[in-house]
Amino acid sequence: MKKILVTGGAGFIGSHLCERLINDGNEVICMDNYFTGSKKNILHLLDSPYFELVRHDVTHPYFVEVDEIYNMACPASPVHYQYNPIKTIKTSVMGAINMLGLAKRIKAKVLQASTSEVYGDPIVHPQTENYWGNVNPIGIRSCYDEGKRCAESLFINYHTQNNVNIKIIRIFNTYGPKMNPNDGRVVSNFIVQALKGEDITIFGNGMQTRSFQYVDDLVEGAIRMMNSRDEFIGPVNIGNPGEFTMIELANMILELTNSKSKLIYLPLPADDPTQRQPNIELAKKELNGWVPKTPLKEGLIKTINYFDNLLTY
Ligand code: NAD
Ligand code: UDP
Repeated sequence: MKKILVTGGAGFIGSHLCERLINDGNEVICMDNYFTGSKKNILHLLDSPYFELVRHDVTHPYFVEVDEIYNMACPASPVHYQYNPIKTIKTSVMGAINMLGLAKRIKAKVLQASTSEVYGDPIVHPQTENYWGNVNPIGIRSCYDEGKRCAESLFINYHTQNNVNIKIIRIFNTYGPKMNPNDGRVVSNFIVQALKGEDITIFGNGMQTRSFQYVDDLVEGAIRMMNSRDEFIGPVNIGNPGEFTMIELANMILELTNSKSKLIYLPLPADDPTQRQPNIELAKKELNGWVPKTPLKEGLIKTINYFDNLLTY
């Protein structure tokens, strides 16, 4: 039995990861400050004697004896990470320093949840891990993008300078049950709007693209990365290469929900990336043939069912 710390474990992805790690027979400590996460996401795990919940902010040092650390703590939705940009930077940078310092001290393996946002508004398409990205360092997304880029640098340097056993995954847009309905991300926004019969808010002309990955596929990829050979530290893209425009996504959700909602067009937020699609050849090669298995339609149906049960109309 391994002891595993998951920071941000009460969030959308973190809660799925905690559940999977418990089901696989591990002991899990879930640490969260509940900024965007919720106890409700992990309530069902509290009965397990192998699950422990700790309210703590990752920007402060934390001491515990574990074998592995998944560093997931950080708001991921633009609305939430832009709410307090300085705090977002602190969470990424000081959070990374604290978790790397802990890993160094207790000789644990530590995995960083990085992001496709390190590619910014990418000029190379699809994005491979050796592309350095196109990020506006002073724009409204920079608190998140540059925070995550600095965290990657910290991870690499703790590895080369201090021999810390690290892993970096670059997560592409991930969706699924347990997303916060007020999260502000496109999949949850469109589903909630469609179910409530409200207008579907398309930002810009809706021709920008994203590649959407179902959360179970991400969790599988993250765990395979943690268990990959020591010499393979990443960064590695974990995403689903299926690429869709926001109009295509909206129409798919309207069809699946049988909704009569209308599309309305709102201004595009600054620095909104025009395209995004992962090249996942490295993940396939290094992570034992890992490939995302859930097509968008199938994942959307599961997510729609979740929100349908959650919402009070
Ligand atoms: P989320 O907002 O649902 O989860 C983040 C969790 O971290 C929440 O429970 C929040 O309360 C917690 N948190 C935030 N700041 C904290 C702090 N200072 N101390 C302790 N806990 C803190 O978002 P998510 O989608 O589950 O994302 C999880 C991780 O994956 C993040 O690091 C995010 O950057 C990364 N990621 C997610 C996506 C995606 O599409 N969902 C894409 C790329 C990267
Ligand atoms: N978006 C949209 N309507 C919404 C929310 C988002 O059209 O109600 C767009 C947004 O402008 C972006 C895409 O959907 O182009 C994905 O946005 P999200 O916030 O989910 O993720 P990110 O931009 O970080 O990839």
